[in-house]
Amino acid sequence: MARIVMKFGGTSMAGIERIRAVAARVKREVEAGNQVAVVVSAMAGETDRLVGFCREASSLYDPREYDVVVSSGEQVTSGLLAIALQAIGVPARSWLGWQLPIHTSDAFSRARIGTIDTAALDESLMRGEVAVIPGFQGVADGDRITTLGRGGSDTSAVAVAAAMKAERCDIYTDVDGVYTTDPRIVPRARKLARVTYEEMLELASVGAKVLQTRSVGLAMKEQVRVQVLSSFTGEDAPMADTLPGTMIVGENELWEEIADVERQLITGIAHDKNEAKITLASVPDKPGAVASIFAPLADAGINVDMIVQNVAHSTGSTDVTFTVPAADLPRSLDVLGQAKATIGYEKLVHDTRVAKISVVGVGMRSHAGVASTMFTTLGERGINIQAITTSEIKVSVLIEEDYTELAVRVLHTAYGLDAEVAA
Ligand code: ADP
Ligand code: ASP
Ligand code: MG
Repeated sequence: MARIVMKFGGTSMAGIERIRAVAARVKREVEAGNQVAVVVSAMAGETDRLVGFCREASSLYDPREYDVVVSSGEQVTSGLLAIALQAIGVPARSWLGWQLPIHTSDAFSRARIGTIDTAALDESLMRGEVAVIPGFQGVADGDRITTLGRGGSDTSAVAVAAAMKAERCDIYTDVDGVYTTDPRIVPRARKLARVTYEEMLELASVGAKVLQTRSVGLAMKEQVRVQVLSSFTGEDAPMADTLPGTMIVGENELWEEIADVERQLITGIAHDKNEAKITLASVPDKPGAVASIFAPLADAGINVDMIVQNVAHSTGSTDVTFTVPAADLPRSLDVLGQAKATIGYEKLVHDTRVAKISVVGVGMRSHAGVASTMFTTLGERGINIQAITTSEIKVSVLIEEDYTELAVRVLHTAYGLDAEVAA
């Protein structure tokens, strides 16, 4: 008998018919002899609707009350799935974040999971029940409800899997695995049988929202076996333990199974339209100038991503360009406006019509030329590069937003990632 976690995302839980299909899928795993905990998202669109209500009530809403409101979507779907399971003869019980409990930090609206008490969960599983756990929520010291940041149900699922020492954490979604790029943008994207934790971490952090970044970091740290697979399949779909989806694996496991020559240099390409570019013109070219820009931003909790400092002008000044999350742009402008005299820049310009395109692959550790292929390919299409960052297994460029889809498509072809199409 294996212990498994099954996580179902918003589109998989969108409406009673879908929830019935999820219940049937869970029943199959129970009948195969598994002990099952299910982690669920709110119905698709529901969290957006709830966030909208908070904003409408007050643009300066209290994050504690925001969490009370937005966590409710998952309360509804966990209860409904327990009902749907009971209706087909599967004993089931829901366990809200505060009932287990799932302890989190008190960073309301973006809390981090600390520990999960498994006593109640273990007893429920031992009684032969399916435990249904709403994703995205937990409880902070002082018994206030918290949420984990958008897309957080993936992280709930991995954390529950680690706590209950599950054999696998199956993430059921609306695509049948992790692809070389978003299959909704590039129809010729290929499904990957395996991807390493590190690659998935990079891909998620640069925009591949199929998994929340934190969930991948946690899986890597806790060595949780994660599979991404589709919930949109019929009763004759292969069982999850035959691994029909994409497995997230350690690098050793990957190299063991795939001969070096068969490995692609690049594993995947991601895009992110949620960054904004800021340029400070004519900053004094002297020690401490850059610190005077980034220190106040860091103090305000704003994460700066890409940074370019231009060659100094003959006047002893330089231009500094960087990106921040688009949602933090108003606050960034405010902080930089207040620090104008200290920094000593002449002009501040910003642009939200930018996109970050990233290529990721562990193969680039041992191969040169990845970045140059990227720059040449984009150059040939007349796509201008505004900023660049790299890591050991990733190259990212900032381009004009209108070219996003074109850039992803041409790079996908340039790195030989396109799937064969039947003639
Ligand atoms: P869920 O509601 O199940 O959590 P999400 O919408 O959060 O689902 O994530 C699934 C979506 O991720 C897919 O519909 C797909 O458009 C998108 N996606 C982005 N990049 C990738 C990728 N490389 N592989 C697969 N899906 C991707
Ligand atoms: N319902 C939450 C969201 O939409 C959490 C999740 O689905 O992962 O962000
Ligand atoms: Mg998701």
